[in-house]
Amino acid sequence: MSGMTFHLPVKVIFGEGRLQEIGTIAREYGRMAFVIFDPFIRGDDREKAVLDRLGEAGIGAEAWYEVVPNPRNTSIDEGARRCRDRGCDLVIVVGGGSAMDTGKAISLVAAHGGGSWDYTERQNETVLRPAGPGLPILVVPTTAGTGSETTSFAVINNPAEKRKCAIISEAIYPSVAIIDPLLTVSLPPETTALTGLDTFAHALEAFISVNGNGIVDRMAVTAMELFARNIRTAVKEGSNLKARGEMALACALGGASISHAGVCLPHALGQPLSAITDAPHGGTLAACLPQVMAWTLPAAREKLARLSRILGGDSVNQMDEGQQAEAMPGILRALYADLGVDVSFSKYGLKASQVETLTDLVFNGFYQDILCHPKKATRADILFLVKECMQEAQSE
Ligand code: NAD
Repeated sequence: MSGMTFHLPVKVIFGEGRLQEIGTIAREYGRMAFVIFDPFIRGDDREKAVLDRLGEAGIGAEAWYEVVPNPRNTSIDEGARRCRDRGCDLVIVVGGGSAMDTGKAISLVAAHGGGSWDYTERQNETVLRPAGPGLPILVVPTTAGTGSETTSFAVINNPAEKRKCAIISEAIYPSVAIIDPLLTVSLPPETTALTGLDTFAHALEAFISVNGNGIVDRMAVTAMELFARNIRTAVKEGSNLKARGEMALACALGGASISHAGVCLPHALGQPLSAITDAPHGGTLAACLPQVMAWTLPAAREKLARLSRILGGDSVNQMDEGQQAEAMPGILRALYADLGVDVSFSKYGLKASQVETLTDLVFNGFYQDILCHPKKATRADILFLVKECMQEAQSE
């Protein structure tokens, strides 16, 4: 067996109702918290529970609600100013991936100065590297999708430049993640489906990445198995706590997987699409997964066959490995039909006149992800894929 390295400095506290422990847990990390609430939670019992538990633990709280999906560098920098001005020594986030990434970037800027965009990884540009960790971060995810609770990434949108790039740094690993599946019950079916597909994409991309290893592969396979068993129930029966819990677990495992193996072509295509159209991250991945998998073959045949068996179950048992691998895009499309997911780059607003622009953004800005993919892509390949993804994934 070849050697491997695995390092995940996040304390994970998992279980229904564990949000109630937030006061005692937060006390280990600070006394004055900058508390970022996803706006959907404003004014409800969960917001009150967090503030009450922090108060009981003697922790001051500055509540902040200015989170937007695909978080903007400008609002992050504004949040960091407020965090610093109020003398906060801890960042707490209760929300989806956009809120968690906002909090991770705020913790860095509040501790080290500069602007959040300066810290993002941008090909061939100077990038600010933090001298040490940011403020301690405690996250409570409310979606089961991004895995931001277990990654060293914060993805930031810069509308002025029409670019979306990630801070990638050990300095922004959360200190603690309280994963309480009760918080995901209010997630509407469409967001449950698209965020769930984000989790699946993480596990899939880490599994096929050329940078994977034996630990990552096992976590990724488990995440995909949990996804396959639970996504339909989570979408159609949102209050089913077993399905919500297993999706939350899949999400955390998916995040830990990409933190080590990186992401591949689907993320290279999806991230700049969000920058141009503001499309939801999970949707951008769903809109290109079947096409990218079909293009990838015959590379990664064994792994794609395994994915087919995980998602397709009995329907692929009689097939040989090559047939199983080829069945993978169709199995995904059938799942989309079940989940009511009907997406494409054009549906998200990409115009035919922007196809070349997106191709350049992918090829010139996401080369690292392209290199992780098991089949090497030229610019012509990227252009081909972008054109393929203009059509609805379900309809092929
Ligand atoms: P999101 O955080 O943008 O949330 C989507 C919508 O759902 C928002 O309107 C939000 O208010 C709402 N919402 C969240 N939780 C809810 C709940 N429990 N009930 C009702 N409504 C709820 O979506 P997301 O997919 O979690 O995050 C996407 C962002 O995360 C993107 O910017 C993406 O690029 C980034 N991302 C980050 C990482 C990472 O490792 N840091 C990985 C993948 C994606």
